[in-house]
Amino acid sequence: MAEQLIGAIEAGGTKFVVALARTDGTILAEARIPTETPATCFPAMAEFFRSASAEHGKIAAFGVASFGPIDIDPASPAYGTFTTTPKPGWSGARFQDVLGEFGAPIVVDTDVNGAALGEWESGAGQGCKTLAYTTIGTGVGCGVLSQGKSMMGFSHYEGGHIGVAHDRAADPYAGFCPFHGDCLEGLAAGPAIKGRWGQSLSDLGSPVDKVTLIAGYVSQLAANLVLLHMPDRLIFGGGVMKTPGLVEALRSATEQRIAGYIKAPQLDPGLVNYIVTPGLGDEAGITGAIALGRSALG
Ligand code: ZN
Repeated sequence: MAEQLIGAIEAGGTKFVVALARTDGTILAEARIPTETPATCFPAMAEFFRSASAEHGKIAAFGVASFGPIDIDPASPAYGTFTTTPKPGWSGARFQDVLGEFGAPIVVDTDVNGAALGEWESGAGQGCKTLAYTTIGTGVGCGVLSQGKSMMGFSHYEGGHIGVAHDRAADPYAGFCPFHGDCLEGLAAGPAIKGRWGQSLSDLGSPVDKVTLIAGYVSQLAANLVLLHMPDRLIFGGGVMKTPGLVEALRSATEQRIAGYIKAPQLDPGLVNYIVTPGLGDEAGITGAIALGRSALG
């Protein structure tokens, strides 16, 4: 196959990372654009690709790994459109409207599905038949891949908003999710930690009791992922997961929660090889976006 160029977009809630890459993943040009509103972000994104394409050549396909909620069903007339996002200005914004001028196919998936794909191809998820990728950051998102394809129903999964057991005597914090209050995201994402204790866990010095509380919430998703999908591995990334001691506490809490009910070689003692952090680190998102673009080339 002749060398082709992919336009890759990792659309995050704070910033967009945009890149022009070769199909082998080599990045030729890259930029960061504040997410703000589509009125400012979209034209800057189009300008980046115009300029990068003028220098390096025609773009053969776009891959978009985006925050959501967003329509990721290729058969839907609204494919690529933000739906009920509480982010001001973004509901109804559509990637195809701004990337259409390049005349290239566009694949849109969620940020977590994109990161999962990046990890499956070249990170901590290599060789996994089923892989779950969860990010615990400003929000909580979770994607599941089966044989390298992201799974969905009528829409993408929303594992960050599952209900979790919440002992209000031990943890009186009400949760910040505008829809559910104390769902997993409402109790364990970055804003919940700052809302409850005023600072991030790392800035607080990663105290064991607080790390254990957050790990307890996240372990409920981890155990449910095992029960619902039987993944070969669980990857947990995002800013909150960088807290020293959190992934260890998560392994321990998840193992206790599974309570010996599932026995499989994948679930190693201590879950050290089962629950892991991203192999690509912060590059998982843009790597996944490039992989999505590559999938459009067939
Ligand atoms: Zn929620």
